[in-house]
Amino acid sequence: MAMFLTRRAEFSASHVCSNPSLSEAENQALYGLAANPHGHGHNYVVEVTVEGETDPVTGMVFDLRELKQVLNDQVIEPMDHRFLNREVAPFDRVPPTTENVALEIWNRLKPRLDRPGLRLANVRLYETPDLYVDYRGEPCS
Ligand SMILES: [Zn+2]
Repeated sequence: MAMFLTRRAEFSASHVCSNPSLSEAENQALYGLAANPHGHGHNYVVEVTVEGETDPVTGMVFDLRELKQVLNDQVIEPMDHRFLNREVAPFDRVPPTTENVALEIWNRLKPRLDRPGLRLANVRLYETPDLYVDYRGEPCS
């Protein structure tokens, strides 16, 4: 499998970078202004990449409509215009950093995209135009 297909989508959400198991002072020290309990917003951009074989009949790696639908159902609908810490599990317990939001998106998409001849290859999440993370589901070594 060597063809990589990427779809980009946007959603707006607010969050507080804080860990509920730490004190407010500890969270302020760790996350600075991002720990302000009243929250702040981002226009997130997510790029989802699948790897697959190009079907010789359709000439496609994957049905683009299905990819859009899965992304909509699993990520955009549940997260767009939400206060992540209060409205989207697991961010009531886990700090919604860029890293953790990307991981959650991966976990939501993986079981719906992996199938014979296709696998979720990468989730890229931009929190700002200058900051993004890539998650590929590979452990650190
Ligand atoms: Zn933020």
